[in-house]
Amino acid sequence: MERILVLIHPEADGSLGKADREVLQAASTLSSALGTPAFLVGLVGNNLQAAGNAVARCGASRILGVKGSDFATARYGTDAAGAAALVHHAQATIVLAAATSRWARVLAGVACRLGGRIDTHATGLAVRDGALTLNRWFYRQRMEGSLQRTPRPWIITLEPGIGPAWTGDPGEVGIEEVPVSLTEEERQTNVAGLQAPAADAQTIRSDAKLLLVAGAGWTKKQADGQVHAAEAQQIILNFLRTTQASLGGTKSLVDLSGEGQAVLPFMTHLNQVGQTGSTPRHPKGLATCCHGEEPHVVGWRFINERRAINLDPNCGWARGKADVVYVADAFAVMAKVNEFLDKQ
Ligand SMILES: Cc1cc2nc3c(=O)[nH]c(=O)nc-3n(C[C@H](O)[C@H](O)[C@H](O)COP(=O)(O)OP(=O)(O)OC[C@H]3O[C@@H](n4cnc5c(N)ncnc54)[C@H](O)[C@@H]3O)c2cc1C
Repeated sequence: MERILVLIHPEADGSLGKADREVLQAASTLSSALGTPAFLVGLVGNNLQAAGNAVARCGASRILGVKGSDFATARYGTDAAGAAALVHHAQATIVLAAATSRWARVLAGVACRLGGRIDTHATGLAVRDGALTLNRWFYRQRMEGSLQRTPRPWIITLEPGIGPAWTGDPGEVGIEEVPVSLTEEERQTNVAGLQAPAADAQTIRSDAKLLLVAGAGWTKKQADGQVHAAEAQQIILNFLRTTQASLGGTKSLVDLSGEGQAVLPFMTHLNQVGQTGSTPRHPKGLATCCHGEEPHVVGWRFINERRAINLDPNCGWARGKADVVYVADAFAVMAKVNEFLDKQ
């Protein structure tokens, strides 16, 4: 009989992230499908009561916690020790966690310490022949695989955005504290502070309904023989400001920015979508001045409705990769779109 544990590190303000709520829902569905007793929740952080109360009615039978200032911020030594203690204490055979950067750093090490296994980037959980079967994509989302494992504990990190989030009301709960004795080595890294771009400078918005992709065409000579980088920048930023869309880029474009050319300075390699970039999840996507070559388009695997604006009627998007292609000048189309948006 499997024992499921959901690992959660609350957000900096003590709240629960959306990705954690998705894992809670997945755990609830999985424990019913497997016919196991209710799952457990394990929290790691400084002050856990707010997160504990937030999950009070999620259906967990017990809520465990590893808490204290040592666990306030991400740090390999303490996070790994805390997670390992929770898995051990819960006697968990299946451990689910959101694929946050904090968990992604430590959970492979935790699996190793506990003699278990880990699978990352899971995109679905199902029960086949009575056993947990997970889905994930391989080779940059080109092949989908499903797999089962026998070694336990089996730690699985779930990609955000793959399933519904649990939305129950908060309650009041007692958290069962799990003691962890830390060594000096585990504490030796100190987090001196956080550096983050201002909220309005942040162009990657994973929860946005729309992904706007900018391609290298924005930086190319246009019909008048001139490059219009300043205009491109203004059009793109204006669109992002009014729609709160997330910004993706092609490799060609982000490479130009990385080489220090004053093209679109807000573009970094983090914006790159594709085979050697990211595979974001958004309900809709709009590609502008982007050719739609396969190494880029593989990053669109999880974009449901796709549109593209390109001067070239033979661009990659027009070959079955987009639902709608506007054969038009993206400068003109997007300026008009911004005009409409500004009036709303
Ligand atoms: C191993 C490997 C990995 C790769 N990984 C990635 C990856 O992860 N992500 C990625 O993006 N690429 C990747 N690439 C590169 C990829 O193959 C393409 O070279 C790249 O995506 C092209 O970028 P682009 O479409 O912006 O530029 P271009 O190919 O230069 O296309 C620019 C487009 O803009 C259009 N255009 C110009 N002006 C206008 C206008 N005014 N209005 C409308 N359209 C206009 C043009 O018609 C053209 O189609 C990879 C390549 C390799 C070999």
